[in-house]
Amino acid sequence: MYFERILHIDLTQGKSWVEPMDARQIQPYLGGIGLAVRLLYDHLPAGADPLGPENVLVFAPGPFAGTLVATGGKHAVVAKSPLTGMIGDSLSGSFWSHTLRRAGYDALVLTGRADALSYLVIQDDQVRIRKAGHLAGLDTLATEDAVRGELGSEEFSVSAIGPAGERLVCFALIANDRGRMAGRTGLGAVLGSKNLKAIAVRGSRTIRIADMVGLEPLTMDLARRCQGPMTEKYRGLGTPSNVLVFDYLGTLPTRNYRQTTFEGAEKVSGEALSRRYVERVVACSGCPVACEHVAVVRDGPYAGARARIDYEPLYAVTSLWGVDDLRPAIRAIELAGLAGVDAISAGTAVAWAMECFERGILKRGDFDGLEPRFGDAEAGLAVLEKIVRREGIGDLLAEGTRRAAEQVGGDSLDFAMQVKGMEMAGYDPRGLKTMALGYAVGTRGACHNRAPGYSADIQGRVSRFAGGPDHGAALVDLEDKAALLDSLGICKFIRAVFGDFYAEASRLYRAVTGLELTPEMLALAGPRICTLKKAFNIREGWTAADDRLPRRALEDAVPAGPNREPLMVKETELQAMIAGYYAARGWTADGQIPKSQLIALGLEDLAKDTGA
Ligand code: SF4
Repeated sequence: MYFERILHIDLTQGKSWVEPMDARQIQPYLGGIGLAVRLLYDHLPAGADPLGPENVLVFAPGPFAGTLVATGGKHAVVAKSPLTGMIGDSLSGSFWSHTLRRAGYDALVLTGRADALSYLVIQDDQVRIRKAGHLAGLDTLATEDAVRGELGSEEFSVSAIGPAGERLVCFALIANDRGRMAGRTGLGAVLGSKNLKAIAVRGSRTIRIADMVGLEPLTMDLARRCQGPMTEKYRGLGTPSNVLVFDYLGTLPTRNYRQTTFEGAEKVSGEALSRRYVERVVACSGCPVACEHVAVVRDGPYAGARARIDYEPLYAVTSLWGVDDLRPAIRAIELAGLAGVDAISAGTAVAWAMECFERGILKRGDFDGLEPRFGDAEAGLAVLEKIVRREGIGDLLAEGTRRAAEQVGGDSLDFAMQVKGMEMAGYDPRGLKTMALGYAVGTRGACHNRAPGYSADIQGRVSRFAGGPDHGAALVDLEDKAALLDSLGICKFIRAVFGDFYAEASRLYRAVTGLELTPEMLALAGPRICTLKKAFNIREGWTAADDRLPRRALEDAVPAGPNREPLMVKETELQAMIAGYYAARGWTADGQIPKSQLIALGLEDLAKDTGA
């Protein structure tokens, strides 16, 4: 059941208080991402500086956190993004969400800025702000350990930033529970801007279940299916198995998206990783799948490097850099995690810098004597280190690829592979047209999680080679389901486990919270949450011109295989898909939200901000 309590902390004033929030007010947004975005919307002044004290940082567990529901331990972190200036939302998993709920809160809302580097301690009703000057510069793992050590209890769950968050790197992340991360949109920089190094939470309350007798068989059945064929990929090689699949499909981003297949793919594949480097497999709390493959380098110059490897960071430091060696890749992913930066954005920024160097737009002198060419892992790592230290060219790259390109000039913005300022993920849009649409219209930028169009492409629900209006409806369906999973706090990797997702999720929700939520009500929650994010962006100045792709995706064709025309996303094709998407959302031709749509979703209070 919900606690119906939101913890607010004003760091400038050093004050905390609890505001009641009725379960019926929470229910339309479910929890997690949905609830956090609503709280952000309600508390953030429009036009706020993302790195100023007025930005609001919200943490919200899903309603299943701390229950038996398999993988239900995700929590959302949300703020105005310093990378995009629009909605910044990210998810992490494991114990932190359970612990915040056991402390008795459905969400935590942070405002203001502490006067010196500090960390927060939340223990049931007690909130303390402790000085953290002695923790300055510590990496994410060392910070977690130091805070727990100082508090004298392993029962504290700790979220922390690394040195990159302290230095306000615009794609800095927030880590928790020794390796889980709220990775995208730069929320670690927001925590850093608030002078907070960490948030430690311990709780002793009981998370009450409305219908334990009803919940038990549902969760047992779900857990059993989580260990079945639908999650075999994750339990086997994990997401690194995507390397060879995407290489085969011709959609593996290679050398900053100059190519879409990589001759070194075998060497950096999930298969190669598993054969030579995976030491063990671990799981988030309450997860029967266990997809996290921990890899270790045992010899050579990177001996001792150890990191959890997923597909996204892996492609971003291998094929994207033209690097076919897993040893420096494991070190780069380790470095990103410890310093606390999103490896997708950081890897893309490095790849963009490599291309600038190869084209002569940036020179040796710009890199303090380095010559970062594609294929040079050591140089890539050195540039990555400069980013996390904001040293030399790293200071510019730490602002994100879009701002770096705007400053460097020439034609470098054409191959800055980002949308709205956030860097693309590991799915080349030219051979995945629903993914191309998802990148273009995604509220948090070029995102594969909130707008996971690739699955419609790969499953053949629409043509992946030729985009049109039907791709809009396909993407809406995927976005809405993703919004529900992210708000219920359930891991996306079990999405295929559900038969009738809406019916099953409704039953689970009712058993946990005691609140009636029909499948029809749930089906409205997805569009409600997606529309709320869009309204947030409109309030921050979004226009239809923001829904676009970088020129490389539109004009640089890549081979599509035998008997096929080379692929790109034609401008007319993109516009047809966007028109189909706006129509499927019930929006106007220029992407605005009509008042009737806001009313239908119970969001009529937003009309004053959206001009509807
Ligand atoms: S499937 Fe993987 S990411 Fe998802 S909850 Fe389980 S261990 Fe965590």
